[in-house]
Amino acid sequence: MISKVCSIELPVGEHLVIYRNRIVCENSTGREGRIAIVSGIHGDELEGQYVCYEMIRRLKEHPEHLKGIVDIYPQLNPLGIDMANRNVPKLEMDMNRIFPGSSQGAVMERVAAAVVNDIAGADICLDIHASDTYVREIPQVRISSEFGQKLLPFAKLLNTDMIWLNASATVHESTLAHSLNMLGVPALVVEMGLGMRVNRVYGDQVVDGIFHLMHEMGLWTGPVIAVREPAVSTDGEVEFIRAQHAGIFLPEISHQHFVQQGEKIGEIVEALTGTVKQEIRAKKAGIVFTLREYPFVYEGALLARILSNTVEGRKF
Ligand SMILES: [Zn+2]
Repeated sequence: MISKVCSIELPVGEHLVIYRNRIVCENSTGREGRIAIVSGIHGDELEGQYVCYEMIRRLKEHPEHLKGIVDIYPQLNPLGIDMANRNVPKLEMDMNRIFPGSSQGAVMERVAAAVVNDIAGADICLDIHASDTYVREIPQVRISSEFGQKLLPFAKLLNTDMIWLNASATVHESTLAHSLNMLGVPALVVEMGLGMRVNRVYGDQVVDGIFHLMHEMGLWTGPVIAVREPAVSTDGEVEFIRAQHAGIFLPEISHQHFVQQGEKIGEIVEALTGTVKQEIRAKKAGIVFTLREYPFVYEGALLARILSNTVEGRKF
């Protein structure tokens, strides 16, 4: 059943409506477990749109296997999605920095409070993000170490390639996930792909993981896949590789590749003079889990992130 979580007139003359699709098991007693799947908090991150679609499609296909409640909130920032804008348009506000919000506060704080209020009481929440338009990410779960012990067992069920603890801003205090964790709802941030794009392979991988998680939580009795074992960031060290020159970045490896120490990742070239300005090599062996997609770079731009000291010879 589709219902409105909130409907508010914005001072900028826009009307903001947030929808939820609730899918309930057959013969519900009202005491079933509940999973909340949230996306579109950043309007330029669309990977979660496919995840929401595919979740609902599969649930409709086999309603007999559902043993709980699935709440899907595809677009928490619908105005941002309309304009392919990360922030809330005109207000230029990052919606994921105003949680838990306040029912007495300014407009967006009231919106945030309505969302938190609606999700509160769920047994688990997944907040699906994508990367920005510059770098591509392999499917990963991001959690803060504060809730690491509680969240790690859930994160491992989700069929992602990696779990990154303490990935800075994504698990910041004023995020939706942090607010829900403070309320006792285990909330995990899933991040994958690229901004303004949908990677169906990644989406299917995560949807398979969500059904596996639901199965382990007793919410789904249908068939599930054997999930991948993710690399966990605390087992190794995350190396950030940045540009030292402006120019055009030309990668020489594929994404999600296990590089050896000293292996060439790519180079930065200069179009005007036809010269190589920087050759980029891995300092340590590891998995390239972030790789730059947008070729133009300036000094300091992120080119790649490598998780080192993961299981030797690990294959993806
Ligand atoms: Zn995001």
